[in-house]
Amino acid sequence: MSEQQFDLIVIGGGSGGVRAARIAAGYGANVAICEQSRMGGTCVIRGCVPKKLLVYASHFAEDFETAKSYGWRIKDASFSWSTLIANKDREIDRLNQVYHRLLDNAGVTTFMGHAQLLDRHRVQVGEQTLRAKKILLATGGQPFTPDFSGCELAISSDQAFHLETLPKRIIIAGGGYIAVEFAGIFNGMGSEVVLAYRGDKILRGFDDDLRDHLENEMHNQGIIIQHDCEISSLERQQSGQLQVTYEDGEVTMADQVMFATGRSPNVDNLGLEQAGIELSPKGAIPVDDDSRTCQDNIFAVGDVTDRINLTPVAIREGHAFADTEFGNKPRQADHALVPSAVFSQPPIGTVGYSEQLAREKFGRLRIYRSSFRAMKHSLSDIQEKTLMKMIVDDATNVVVGLHIIGLDAAEMVQGFAVAVKAGLKKDDFDATVGIHPTSGEEVVTLRDFEVVE
Ligand code: NDP
Repeated sequence: MSEQQFDLIVIGGGSGGVRAARIAAGYGANVAICEQSRMGGTCVIRGCVPKKLLVYASHFAEDFETAKSYGWRIKDASFSWSTLIANKDREIDRLNQVYHRLLDNAGVTTFMGHAQLLDRHRVQVGEQTLRAKKILLATGGQPFTPDFSGCELAISSDQAFHLETLPKRIIIAGGGYIAVEFAGIFNGMGSEVVLAYRGDKILRGFDDDLRDHLENEMHNQGIIIQHDCEISSLERQQSGQLQVTYEDGEVTMADQVMFATGRSPNVDNLGLEQAGIELSPKGAIPVDDDSRTCQDNIFAVGDVTDRINLTPVAIREGHAFADTEFGNKPRQADHALVPSAVFSQPPIGTVGYSEQLAREKFGRLRIYRSSFRAMKHSLSDIQEKTLMKMIVDDATNVVVGLHIIGLDAAEMVQGFAVAVKAGLKKDDFDATVGIHPTSGEEVVTLRDFEVVE
């Protein structure tokens, strides 16, 4: 069969790949995109989107509690996991179709199947051979589970979205984004949750005050957090339960064991060696600031490059690539001061430097803190606290970090991230009038600080 010719072949129909394909096609390029699973990638199909739907679902337990203190009487509230999963699947199907439509409307040719590089310009997908001047690798990542006896019995976040029944008791290994988010989800649904983390404090890399605060709130909600704890084996019992053995010899039982121990770049059978591309020591595709690999016509964006593994970052990398290579508008994706959220319960929003990193970079700092009970909880017995922490470089008065944990933290930080990204000073925050009564007004009225260096 003859080769089909394109200006650009994109491998991977996730956030980064789809954005690059659409923008390049908009500039008039003849673009093909290959996807082996479902269009939309990790974020839409088995990540951010279904996760947030489950977070909403799990929060109703607390919302019903709060509602009572506002005078509502809710009779016979009950929860159906299967209804939730069916409704969530319907929404994901809809989004999957939206992605197909966006690509069709942009004039991008879609190939469903596993794609493999044959050399620097040719890609094999199913029976088809495609050729292009430029190739973009946007294959994302997949859950990583350590190798141990019985590890195949554990689930990852991929399977957690499709469980037939809600586990009565689940052990979640890991202490990162996915582990704390799913701990909150299952706990809210009524499962007994144990978080088994190998370190001494969850969410490594985040500001220490947030880490302590979240551990405390999770503990108050009944989640059991075990530190310095690693699973050494799993064994299925006749009852169907899993026998879990920890490295210190302790044995316990669970209905499900989920591993959220990081993700690794999707590079299996991608044909990288045939195109002369070597992996980094961590198994990612190394790229420069233009997302170019060591081959000058092959580029890579998103999680497969293991830079900042967030959907909006992959989208920006894909867009910058298309602007530069097909739009005659050279630019690079900016990886500085990227805000992010963890949809734990309560959620976290964060932008800029943690106190630890700010001390190393700037020296003398002013640390502003505020801790309070959100107004919504004031009529209820819910004692959950919001914590805000602002980090100011004492020499320049510039706000270099803002970290919030509590109700609506992600929404607040998305707005304030503009100010932090713009390099605004504490005076600019002080000059802004608060909106009353909100939690966000606290950010512009922070007065008490401590000096650290
Ligand atoms: P993370 O890298 O955030 O966390 C991995 C966790 O697993 C860490 O606590 C780590 O411990 C632990 N771990 C790693 N290897 C092992 C091992 N061999 N044995 C035991 N524990 C181990 O990964 P996640 O899987 O939570 O998430 C993957 C990525 O997905 C994130 O980095 C993030 O970029 C993205 N993501 C973003 C979300 C958001 O924006 N809200 C939500 C979900 C995912 P240690 O700390 O000691 O290294």
